[in-house]
Amino acid sequence: MSINYRQEYNLEIRGWLERVFEKAGRLAAGSLLRRSCPLCGGVDTRPFVNNGFFDYDRCPGCALVFQNPTVDPQAVNDGFTGSDELLEDYFKISAKYKTGVPTKPDPRSHGKLRDIYGVRPEGRLLDVGCSVGDFLHLAKYFYDVEGVEVNPATTAIAAQHFRVHCGFLSDLRLPLVYDIVTLNQILYGVPDPVGLLRDIHAVLKTDGILCLNTPNSDSYATRLFGGKCCHFYGYTTQNVFNPEALSHLCAKAGFRILTMRTEWLDIYTADLREFYDRPDRFIHKRNTHLPDYERGFVVEDEAQRQLGQNLGQRGNYLVALLVKS
Ligand SMILES: [Zn+2]
Repeated sequence: MSINYRQEYNLEIRGWLERVFEKAGRLAAGSLLRRSCPLCGGVDTRPFVNNGFFDYDRCPGCALVFQNPTVDPQAVNDGFTGSDELLEDYFKISAKYKTGVPTKPDPRSHGKLRDIYGVRPEGRLLDVGCSVGDFLHLAKYFYDVEGVEVNPATTAIAAQHFRVHCGFLSDLRLPLVYDIVTLNQILYGVPDPVGLLRDIHAVLKTDGILCLNTPNSDSYATRLFGGKCCHFYGYTTQNVFNPEALSHLCAKAGFRILTMRTEWLDIYTADLREFYDRPDRFIHKRNTHLPDYERGFVVEDEAQRQLGQNLGQRGNYLVALLVKS
């Protein structure tokens, strides 16, 4: 069962998010940097959304949505590597509700494995931004796995089970030996996405695969909730891609798109009610103070699955398989 279906977990995460919002307010009141598009360098950008603290612009040249003005990129990277109290608290909360190490999944149907397994059922896999190793615990049954993680505290947890390289990929000088690299929910928080993909390119073998999962700025949820969509919580989101922006990123970093799909509608009836009736207390996917809130998640997610509706390019997350070209 997904951890998001548990009310106790969501209550703690809602409290944690309220602290994230307080920090976002402090950061937004500090010194910010106006910048050109981090993907194509374009300067003629258009307002996209405001999340209550930060503005996000859309670049007409490449379709990337990015925080502008932004917190100092050095401060962003320091936040990943240093002992960030909020980050530590987040891991404490999720560790509390974890139900142990997952058993062997079916790689042909598991949401986080099926795309990769369909084209590369074996090989050396490097999970970049592996955090505490959740994905490595799933992938280890099928691949020879390693991780890269910038935060020493989360590295220490993952390293109890796996070989984990601590540091930024650009500094690690890893050999060119990997068949697969995975990037789960990392790209959105990185100040230089082109640089990261080029660093990945440098460690992937010829015809190597990069599988990434990242928020989608073309989703129905983004369109509906705007700056209150979960993609824009607080201050950590740097970039939100859509299929067009992802194509530009691939071309710049030397990849070709093999497959791309979207997943999760992420629009629930209880959220809609709160968004329109009580916008003051609305937090997308965390309105756990409402009666039967999590039951709505379970029932509506299952209904979506059973209907099998194709969201086209409008699901809330992009899942793409890229091949090194
Ligand atoms: Zn651009």
